[in-house]
Amino acid sequence: MFAKFLLTVAVVALIWFGFKYLQRVTELRERRAARTPSTPERPRFEPVPDGESVQDLVKCPRCHTYRSSKLGHCGQEGCPY
Ligand SMILES: [Zn+2]
Repeated sequence: MFAKFLLTVAVVALIWFGFKYLQRVTELRERRAARTPSTPERPRFEPVPDGESVQDLVKCPRCHTYRSSKLGHCGQEGCPY
């Protein structure tokens, strides 16, 4: 009779401490996830307002490629740039 009572107490204690352990593990995992954000800051393109970093591309009628007109001649014969 006493052994049955002891076994019940032991089972309840096991469940109780197991639940507390799981709560602690979850809390630590959440804290670690909050410290290191899952999406790190990626480099962003910031256009310089002087217009140097943003240029319109023009199509070369000779080689059919789009390039900045400031790049100059593409190397093909008859290129107007
Ligand atoms: Zn060209």
